[in-house]
Amino acid sequence: MTNTPDDRRFAELLHHRAERLGQGDPITPPLVSSATYHLPRVDQGGFMYGRMSMPTWEEVEAQLAILEGAPCLSFPSGMAAISAALMAMVVPGRRVVLPSDGYYTTRLFADAFLAPFGVTAEYLPTLAMGQADFTGAGVVFLETPSNPGLEVCDIAAIAARAHAAGAKVIVDNTTLTAVLQRPLDLGADVVVAADTKAPGGHSDVLFGHVATRDAALMARVRDWRKLSGAVPGAFEAWLVHRGIETLEVRLARMCASAQVIAERLAAHPKVQAVRYPGLPGDPSHALMARQARGFGFLIGASLADADVAERFLERCPFLARATSFGATHSAGERRARWGDAVAPGFLRLSIGVEPVEALWAGMAEALEGL
Ligand SMILES: *Cc1c(COP(=O)(O)O)cnc(C)c1O
Repeated sequence: MTNTPDDRRFAELLHHRAERLGQGDPITPPLVSSATYHLPRVDQGGFMYGRMSMPTWEEVEAQLAILEGAPCLSFPSGMAAISAALMAMVVPGRRVVLPSDGYYTTRLFADAFLAPFGVTAEYLPTLAMGQADFTGAGVVFLETPSNPGLEVCDIAAIAARAHAAGAKVIVDNTTLTAVLQRPLDLGADVVVAADTKAPGGHSDVLFGHVATRDAALMARVRDWRKLSGAVPGAFEAWLVHRGIETLEVRLARMCASAQVIAERLAAHPKVQAVRYPGLPGDPSHALMARQARGFGFLIGASLADADVAERFLERCPFLARATSFGATHSAGERRARWGDAVAPGFLRLSIGVEPVEALWAGMAEALEGL
């Protein structure tokens, strides 16, 4: 066992306040909700007004910066982070290339609020991004693995081709988080993520962030937040800070359990197909093994039809029937109910931190009865 740079980073994360602490200071970050700050003069720095900066955001941003290896800005939701990055980066007259099989709301945003200003969206399947022609594109947006299909694309190779065409690359890293994948190290310009999912981790807060090593871009994203007013609340930041403290240990359990559950589902006669990048036969396996530290906690499982899939969910004692993923509790959802381009019996399962044998026993029993 060696102490890797990742291990060092995860340890550092838990002690990021240490250097700044004085005698008697709290070990955990104070929840500061003040909108206004003592400001006799404006030329002396410090906090001024809550739309510009807030002490509790900065605590989460310090954690995220350690994980991403880059400065980060927090937002009130994943979509607030995604729209901020897009608004800061799109170029009038140059198109934005987006995944046709990624998070649906990103596409709705592009069509409703970018296209009318001359930034048209081109939608390509995640698997086609590697061969795409990016001539004339201003921004290439990737989501890997994609939600919900778990298709994976090569961030480094695509970033090199996008840059050669003069485009910037944004990666939505929600499905893995910076603990499992660091797109900036692979050549992406910007990372966006919904911390609503695994980083918050308890389904009790919406949050998001933007990370980039490009100072000029960061300044624009910061201006977007300040001028549009898309700012997170202090309590939300405080909750996410608490969530991130256990992110690495939760993910270790969640990924290990997902591997076990995926293997058993794949071997089960009532399950028609399983997508999990950790399965050696999965089309995403080799690439994901190269560009990520783990295979994640999401599984795609196809049952015979919509009715069978719904009955399975109903009968599983330890699967929350909710949308969203990445929480302590496992969850399952039939994605076709939202119109995703998947088979009617396709389930997205998010594996939580329950002891895996208890979780599997519930699933096995539910499958037997179908
Ligand atoms: C959930 C999700 C988002 C949006 O996050 P919100 O916090 O709900 O706004 C964006 N991208 C992906 C891949 C997601 O799964």
